[in-house]
Amino acid sequence: MIIKDIPTLREQLLLNRQQKKIALVPTMGNLHAGHLQLVKLAQQHGNYVVVSIFVNPMQFGPNEDFASYPRTLSDDVDKLSQLNVDAIFTPTIEEIYPLKLDVQTQVSIPLISNELCGFFRPGFFTGIATVVTKLFNIVQPHVAIFGEKDFQQLQIIRQLVNDLCFDIEIIAAPIVREKDGLAMSSRNQYLQPQERLIACNLYQQLQKTAEKMLSGNMDFHQLEKAAQNSLSTNFKVDYFSVRNRNNLTQPTTTDRELILLVAAWLGKARLIDNIFVDL
Ligand code: AMP
Repeated sequence: MIIKDIPTLREQLLLNRQQKKIALVPTMGNLHAGHLQLVKLAQQHGNYVVVSIFVNPMQFGPNEDFASYPRTLSDDVDKLSQLNVDAIFTPTIEEIYPLKLDVQTQVSIPLISNELCGFFRPGFFTGIATVVTKLFNIVQPHVAIFGEKDFQQLQIIRQLVNDLCFDIEIIAAPIVREKDGLAMSSRNQYLQPQERLIACNLYQQLQKTAEKMLSGNMDFHQLEKAAQNSLSTNFKVDYFSVRNRNNLTQPTTTDRELILLVAAWLGKARLIDNIFVDL
């Protein structure tokens, strides 16, 4: 069932809330196998699955790709119908933001929102935290599913849930990759054929650096610099960073649960990826 407005969605949820466990999968549409894996996970953790499709203007900067972001609603609906999701929520911008963006309430999470992707995309995580708060309040799900591809986003949502006392379980889904290792993303279609061939270097670099750490190299600064240098032949690197996986701070040499995160431009596409390193 496709639902465009909040009152209709609430009505449907009210009919089901007593007997069913509601699972929410927030997306911006243009669905690929990564998104569909989230939906399947939602179906394992709940029995009334709501998938939202909303290209959220608040998370895009003035010079970013809001206007050109791929919108493929009828294909998305076909894919979700095949999976028998219970509700597809496709609100208009006015439904989510009745007020102009700059006067509406915003949810901002300090420090972590200004790091990594947040440093290069000011306002990005405030846009995400705000829309996810609204979706949580609209749907009031028991569980919500987010992908590890956007690892910083996942950690920010976890903090949001704790800080604002949402009674929602957050479930993380592993990264789904193309055959050559490139993490699936709607933005991969911005790549020219030649760029697409080398895009998998990003994941290969993550793997190489992870191997060096596993074989004992703990000079994180040097590892980051070496990876940035190596990538910069083909990419414009925003960051390549070793972090503590639990709080995304700079790791100490005694931390064991680490993550390597990268964001880099290839032509018109800004690609992000990450890999876990357990020492
Ligand atoms: P998006 O539509 O890009 O905003 O993504 C919606 C959700 O799907 C987010 O929780 C993403 O982390 C997740 N997601 C996107 N791509 C992938 C992928 N390749 N593997 C796993 N999850 C993904």
